[in-house]
This record gives sequence, C-alpha cells and structure tokens, in this order.
Amino acid sequence: MAENYIPPDDWLGNLKDSLKESKSVFKLGNDQRRDKDTIPKILSVSDIQKGKWDTDRILTTTLNGVKRAITTDDLKAFKKNIAIAKNTFTGGMTAQQIINHSLDIDRERAREQITMVVPISANRGVVRFMTNAGGETPNVHRHYVNVEFLHYEIEASSADTTARQAALNLRKKPLKIECDCGRQRFWHSYIASIGGFKFGVQETGFPRIRNPNLNGVACKHLLRVMQEIVSGGAFITFMTKQLEKGKAHDENKAQNKTTQKNAEKIVKNQSLRKNNDIIIKELKKAVKNAPKPNKTAKGTGGFKPNPNLPDPYALMKSQFKAMGLSDKQIDAMIEAAKNNA
Ligand SMILES: [Zn+2]
Repeated sequence: MAENYIPPDDWLGNLKDSLKESKSVFKLGNDQRRDKDTIPKILSVSDIQKGKWDTDRILTTTLNGVKRAITTDDLKAFKKNIAIAKNTFTGGMTAQQIINHSLDIDRERAREQITMVVPISANRGVVRFMTNAGGETPNVHRHYVNVEFLHYEIEASSADTTARQAALNLRKKPLKIECDCGRQRFWHSYIASIGGFKFGVQETGFPRIRNPNLNGVACKHLLRVMQEIVSGGAFITFMTKQLEKGKAHDENKAQNKTTQKNAEKIVKNQSLRKNNDIIIKELKKAVKNAPKPNKTAKGTGGFKPNPNLPDPYALMKSQFKAMGLSDKQIDAMIEAAKNNA
C-alpha cells in the first residue's frame, strides 16, 4: 500500500528519457480522451446547459451517494455546482490558492508520499516538473506536472527587476496547471478547465461519477509542486536561470533544461530533508513514550533516573550512528526533540 511505499533509488531515471516520456504520457491521456469508446460516456457541458442528453446513452452518476442512472434533476444540480465553481475560481489561481482550495486527503497524501520534486525543463513561462509517485499504481515511479506562469512575459521583459527578484515575484502570480495522473484527469481537470487554470487541452466532460460535487482542485503531485513554487529553493534557482535567459533576449525566448547532475543533487537534498523530518518525528515519539519520573515516591527530592529501566535514547542513538550521523548531530537532535516534546 502507498503508506509504506519508498520510491526506488533510480526513480529519477535519465532526464533525457524522462522528457520524451513526459510528452508521450500527456499525448496518451489526450488520445484516450478522444477515443471512440470514450466519447459516448462523456457528459458534456452542452448536455448540462440544454438540460437533456441523448437517452440512447446510459449515463450514471454517484451524486448523493450510490451509483445510479442520471435524471434531469441531476443535470440541474450539476449546473448549480458548475456555477458555484466558476464563481469561486474567477481571477486566476496562484500556487497558494491552489493549495488552499485542495482537499485535506490530497494535501495529506502530498505530505506523506510525494517527497521529491524536480523542475526538469522550461520553455518561456511553461515549466515541466517531475515528482516521485505515491506507489498506488504498480510500476509507476514518477509523474509529470506542467505549470504555466502567466506573468512570465511581464517579468522577463521588466527592466526593474533582477532575474532572481522576478523569479520570487512569480511565486505569488497566477498559474495554469496539469498532471498526467488519473486523480487529476478524472477528478479535478474539469474544475480547472471551467476555473480557467487548466494548462493544455481543456476538459469539457463533467466528472459525473468521480466528482459530481466538484470538490478539490489538485492531486498530490501538483500540490507538492505548488509547495515547491511557494517556498522551495530548487524552483527559485531554476526560474532565476530561466529568467536570466529571458531577460537577455529581446524576444524573451528562453529554453532551459536541468542537467542530470543537478537533478540528482536536488533529489538528494530533498531525501535528506525528509529523513531528518522522520528522525525528528521518531524522537518526539520516543521522548513522549519515555518512562516518566516517579514523582510520588517519598524522599526522592526530584527526578532520579531509575537504573533498572533502559535508557530510552540508547536504541535511537545506535540507529542514528548506523545511519552515519555524528555524536554531536545526534545529541543536538535529541536536545531539540526534548524541547519540542
Ligand atoms: Zn497527479
């Protein structure tokens, strides 16, 4: 199950192959969308607007719980949900707004499972990212996310900012997004399309089975990328380089690719950070569960370690040592955990 999934060491693969692979996965998704077997199953916006559909087609929904045949009342409910979503998402979505409008479950999955994200290429304001997969689909170890920075041209042509300042500005500006995973395609891409923040081919089919109430906006891969855009160092380094190129050309044309070496460096730093988070979490747990001093014992005059109990930190210390941490690092972490427990 995904909870205990650890991406294989070579999940990053060869970046040149990844660039090719990313193009083909998006193409495959779009081809499937237009397949002759898929088209009759799509409940289109015009079906909903007209309030009727071709009854030769048996269409179902899960609105209000169980899966059943759709009715004209359902179409009215869908129309209302579309109006609410349209109202909510006017004016463009920034990375932070996408995080804010996402579902708890997607945020939790992003935090727990998606530990690594690398910007792999850029063409003007469109950046392609790669993240590790969450382990739910067998043999899928990575996903691709495209992000269009809608203010890229403005920032690239501005004489008032350095490339780095321009990159920092883009963190807070509106975006368009897409991910190749099923969650994004079948649950959220319709919402992103009507909200005006779907990158690439627009989705006009209403998610009558997966998401008839139109909840949430982004999958865990996209959310990890949004977090990187809001506060990550790898994104700023990459976008600064991209804007340096953009600002140097009159026509603002710029392409940028991450080297294999740099991508490996980014991933290594991110996994170290994740390891540290896990260690701190374990330490806090150990401190919380450590035997408490017996305050009711008479005449003890305060806490005295019980010599009959094992040192709660001894096992931790030996495990950290085996992981290659120094005594100084281990002591500092235990101290920090004690203070935060
Ligand atoms: Zn995704």
